Amino acid sequence: MARPMTSFRVDFLGCKVNQVEAEDLRDRLFALGLREAASGTAVDLYVLNTCSVTAHAGATSRKWLRRALRENPGAAVIATGCYAESDRARLARMPGIRAVFGNEEKDAIAPFVARELLGGDQVLPRGAAARPRGRARAFVKVEDGCDDACTFCIIPRLRGPARSRDEAEILGEVRELVGRGHREIVLTGIHLGYYGRGTGERGLALLRLLEQVAETEGLGRLRLSSLEVQELTPPLLAFLSSHPRMVPHFHLPLQSGSDRVLRRMRRKYNATGFAERVAALREAVDRPALTTDVLPGFPGEEEADFESTVELCRKLGFAALHVFPYSARPGTAAASYPQSLSAAGLARRKRILLDLGEALAASWRDRFLGSRGEVLVEGPDPARAGHLVGLTERNLRVSFPGRDRLRGEILPVQLDRALPGAAMLGRLAVRVGAGP
Ligand code: SF4
Repeated sequence: MARPMTSFRVDFLGCKVNQVEAEDLRDRLFALGLREAASGTAVDLYVLNTCSVTAHAGATSRKWLRRALRENPGAAVIATGCYAESDRARLARMPGIRAVFGNEEKDAIAPFVARELLGGDQVLPRGAAARPRGRARAFVKVEDGCDDACTFCIIPRLRGPARSRDEAEILGEVRELVGRGHREIVLTGIHLGYYGRGTGERGLALLRLLEQVAETEGLGRLRLSSLEVQELTPPLLAFLSSHPRMVPHFHLPLQSGSDRVLRRMRRKYNATGFAERVAALREAVDRPALTTDVLPGFPGEEEADFESTVELCRKLGFAALHVFPYSARPGTAAASYPQSLSAAGLARRKRILLDLGEALAASWRDRFLGSRGEVLVEGPDPARAGHLVGLTERNLRVSFPGRDRLRGEILPVQLDRALPGAAMLGRLAVRVGAGP
């Protein structure tokens, strides 16, 4: 007889959307009466929301699944997500994998667990069971899929065209999350700027959604996970720069600073246009934290193209660079483009961008030394006893002395000292009452 199933863990790889989907599945497994086990403890049910954005991500997904099988003998191991979609047969053949669910089948995981693993068929609605209070920040997926065809990207094939969630449903979820104690909401999607696409609102649907979410009672602050620069329209910019709950942090994927490469990638802006939008953003918003993705080593990227990327990143003064060295994804247009860059050449470009990212992050951090930041307290700092850790509105990670009961609060913190990894050491700039 199979052992009783009581505990689970859900992991994810890759993007924020995968993270949100993993959160959603956790809610649904809690609603089945299962208990989430800490990392490092054996579980009865393990689910991985896999990623396939690069060839490397697919290999990592397989590695994580093999490790889960090894560390949780007898557990039901389930794979879902983009890699499960793109290489389903291979995962299904992996010894020990109990089930594989594609992107469109994720909603079927909880019913499957209830029916096949718990022996019942009743799935309680979302949030029906008391879920332990989670992080201070919650991600809400408002959109899935993408209508673009960037030549390096497999996502439109794996996730399909852009689809938006119903506005009332999103607002209900935000109210519920804020009611559960989440002070910051991050709206996320595969292509967030395509929220409401096809409704004839010419890009205004996202603005309307933001206006409503921002008014949620009890919400502390609101953030967008990512936006394509060409979607930063004047009405959207006017809202982002004026609403007090919008945090001044924007993630704008650049990918390359070379017009020639951007054209071959089929991106919808050029380097000058990108820089102009950033200038408009800086004009409208007080010291915005700008973060970006860069993709060195795209087929045909010459040294001069790469230097343009380095130069533009330096000039735009990003607060952080996320570096994704190019790897060919079968099924993308770029997979057939000839690649002349050697592995060593790609590693060199990656290293240069990582070093630049570190330097930019440190200089961004140093601009705020001696000033105050509004920190959303995430919880105890695992690296410093008696300290809490959180993020400022401008995306700076700060550690400061404080008690656990301040978790989830947004508090002014004096930013005193630089720490490695572009983090900071601070102290509370207000007195908070004594207590446990
Ligand atoms: S905009 Fe381009 S990179 Fe982003 S998901 Fe769509 S196709 Fe992929």
